[in-house]
Amino acid sequence: MLKIGITGGIGSGKTTVCKVFETLGIPVFYADTVAKQLMTADPILVAGVKDTFGAASYTESGQLNNQHIAGIVFNNQLELDKLNALVHPAVFRAFDQWSNTIPYTVPYTLKEAALLFESGSYQMCDKTILVTAPLALKIARVMERDQVSEAQVKARMDKQFTDEQKAKMADYFVQNTMDNSIILQVLELHQQFLSL
Ligand code: ATP
Repeated sequence: MLKIGITGGIGSGKTTVCKVFETLGIPVFYADTVAKQLMTADPILVAGVKDTFGAASYTESGQLNNQHIAGIVFNNQLELDKLNALVHPAVFRAFDQWSNTIPYTVPYTLKEAALLFESGSYQMCDKTILVTAPLALKIARVMERDQVSEAQVKARMDKQFTDEQKAKMADYFVQNTMDNSIILQVLELHQQFLSL
């Protein structure tokens, strides 16, 4: 079955675009949401996190100690790379398992990931979509959605490839601007994927 990766910068609207695909009956694997769940649900990942960042990474009841982990990886690229090296393979495993549960009548699936290109997970996809939006609009949307400052949004953006870098790697595009209908663009892509 065809696997399509979908990504975009923070606030570009990739989740919103995925919701439109879902209305067409296309199953979506939300990699970032799954990654958060796996931090406590995947025993291999849990063991790896404890080995790398210490037993204090989890509370006695098995909850993730976000403060402990964030204190180590925040502004420390080397430690962040270590965390990603544990999390990404766990998400790959979960994606494989999830893909195996999809009925063969489904024409294609989507994998939504903020770091699709950065993590290398695009290599598990047959095609990729990049959702783009003007910088000011992305910042405004995230500030509104997450109730955060412009500086906080920009700090998150700095950790991702730029749209220019991602555009070189993507096969298809959705422009989520004020004057472009994402519904029409999704319908067009859907038809293209059905004919692949
Ligand atoms: P993140 O990487 O932070 O998860 P994202 O790329 O998944 O972001 P969304 O959560 O889909 O982005 O969109 C960001 C915000 O902008 C949301 O509040 C969403 O409702 C809003 N938004 C996205 N696209 C549109 C649109 N075309 N019209 C109006 N609001 C939109």
